[in-house]
Amino acid sequence: MYDFRSVLPSLLVLIIFLSYYIFLPRLPLRRSIAFFDLLLIEGLVISTDILSSYVDMEYNNFSVPFLYFANGSFYIFFFLRSFAFYYYTATITQLRLKDYPSIGILLRIPFFLSLALTISSPWSKAIFSIEDDGFHHGFLIDYLYAMVFFYIIVSFAIVIYRRSYFLRTSSFFASMGFNFTLLVGAIIRKVFPTYLIMDTFCILAMIIIYLSFENPDIYIDQRAYVFNTLSLRLYINEINRIKDHKYSGFIIHNYEDTRKIYGAKQMDNGLRLIGRYLNKKFKRAFFFYNRNGRFIIIGNRLTNMDTIIEKLRERFKEPWKSTDTELYLDVNFASLQVENEDYSADIFFNTLLNVLEKSDKQNTHECLVASDDDLKSVEKDVFVKKALENALENNLVEVYFQPIIQASTSRIVGAEALARIYDEDGYIITPNDFIPIAEKNGNISNIGRQIFAKTCEFIKYSNITSMGINWINVNLSPTQFLITDLADDYSSIVKKYGINPNLIHLEITEESMTDVTSMKKQIRSLNEKGFNFVLDDYGKGYSNLTRIKTCPFINIKLDMELVWSYCNDPDEIIPTMVHAFKEMGFSVTAEGIETGHMADVMKDIGCDFLQGHYYSKALPIDDFISYVATEFSKPVK
Ligand code: C2E
Ligand code: MG
Ligand code: MG
Repeated sequence: MYDFRSVLPSLLVLIIFLSYYIFLPRLPLRRSIAFFDLLLIEGLVISTDILSSYVDMEYNNFSVPFLYFANGSFYIFFFLRSFAFYYYTATITQLRLKDYPSIGILLRIPFFLSLALTISSPWSKAIFSIEDDGFHHGFLIDYLYAMVFFYIIVSFAIVIYRRSYFLRTSSFFASMGFNFTLLVGAIIRKVFPTYLIMDTFCILAMIIIYLSFENPDIYIDQRAYVFNTLSLRLYINEINRIKDHKYSGFIIHNYEDTRKIYGAKQMDNGLRLIGRYLNKKFKRAFFFYNRNGRFIIIGNRLTNMDTIIEKLRERFKEPWKSTDTELYLDVNFASLQVENEDYSADIFFNTLLNVLEKSDKQNTHECLVASDDDLKSVEKDVFVKKALENALENNLVEVYFQPIIQASTSRIVGAEALARIYDEDGYIITPNDFIPIAEKNGNISNIGRQIFAKTCEFIKYSNITSMGINWINVNLSPTQFLITDLADDYSSIVKKYGINPNLIHLEITEESMTDVTSMKKQIRSLNEKGFNFVLDDYGKGYSNLTRIKTCPFINIKLDMELVWSYCNDPDEIIPTMVHAFKEMGFSVTAEGIETGHMADVMKDIGCDFLQGHYYSKALPIDDFISYVATEFSKPVK
């Protein structure tokens, strides 16, 4: 006798699930479609389970073909469900079996075998048979459990191997959780085959899936009531291989101001009104809310994006009104033209946000279009960012040294430490590429610190001081210069290596001098610890002589652009300036010396030190040591 008691509540729970799922807004994500299929399959399993159990008990009243049909359908849906749970696991880890065709075929074999065994059962009696005394398990019935366990084990393996694809740690545990629930259900089914309890465990697994992955609220922005950034990422990830998608967006230009003037609640009401308008008005596109007034629109081949943009432009000329709100909002538009689809979702996403940002800054009334070049530059940024993170994490930021020459003797008296990182293939990435990124994301301080420590280590273990090197310049970025315990930190590093802080000159640029009081305080604390200061890149951008006058620099470095322009077209200004600096007590270094002529010109106007490719490029440690040794052994001119 079969026990139906647990099946009926499962069926009711399933019906509630299905109706919820059908009526709430959903994106056509692979995982959501897979979940919907799972719900349908579960419904069919439960129904055919009830039907087959009933007809098996009353087998005398049914024809043999019908008994085969009822039981066969149940087994087919039962097998399909196992496969569907495994397939769902693959979708949430963004695994596409298309990418691994041979593994894909192998993983499908058990399922197709189960179909073949079930369909052939009336003749082979493999899974079940109908005899004179009714239903009987077939001689391969244990294959059923083998298949269920096989797909559960494969699912566990997928979850573990692809755990980095989960956006949240909780998703990893949820995936382990629902597969574990299925495992328990399958074990109980094996031990007590007449209790139809496995459906209950499958429903439990679906509840876990629903709560962790499929609840539509997870994908909807709670203010604008359009899809959120999580859905945007998942969606772009899935569609970016499919041609003919159109990407656009708009940004509320006066978002911050409106929020400040009318309050957050009013602005949120505005977002809600916009979201409602978008959902109601445009059925052929998906809308996503990012943050701070940025909306993204994705359409397919059939979407007329230009019309949508035109209509939105018109709509935004009117206020957004509700009983207690009336907001006038300005918007700027941007779109992304996709010619080459070999970019990752993140690159699409970041490029679109970049171009939206740009259109907001320019506040143009045109729709800015991001090109393939924009995508390429974002891709390069991502590439550099990865190399940078890897270098920082593994202490792989390398220090190169560029010699600094005393103009009067042409001897090397110092050097500048310059950072270098490598990409995966061992190619150098130069500071021009990674410093701006590092400055933006704050990594610049870590780079500076690694270069500083490596310079101290170099001074300690090489005997360059005995070969005439009196100091090494290390760059301090403006961000790093703001760190309050910088003096203590750097002082503890020089102490660790047991070197004299006088051997290190810290280069700062005028950008670091915007807040004069805190700058002086920082310079004073570092001076007290024994470090000296050099002003780098003088003449690049805005310079303020009075401010410089009050700062305790020992040296001013003229920016190479300034040096080049003077050497090409001499004037009175630079010599006067060099003279003035020397009057103030600063020595002067000319950067970017590329020819003997430039060296002579800059020496003649009074520069004390020269640095540039004419002498040497920045060199890796070993090359630098050999260079210094060779130069040191030459007789003084
Ligand atoms: P910088 O501090 O002004 O460094 C001088 C730059 O000029 C170096 O570029 C150097 O290789 C280059 N250079 C020197 N002589 C010549 C020449 O004759 N011709 C030409 N065309 N270039 C010359 P690099 O190493 O690419 O560094 C660029 C900038 O990146 C540096 O400018 C500095 O602002 C920054 N940087 C480099 N390393 C660090 C670091 O460790 N920390 C910080 N905060 N910034 C760094
Ligand atoms: Mg420098
Ligand atoms: Mg410089």
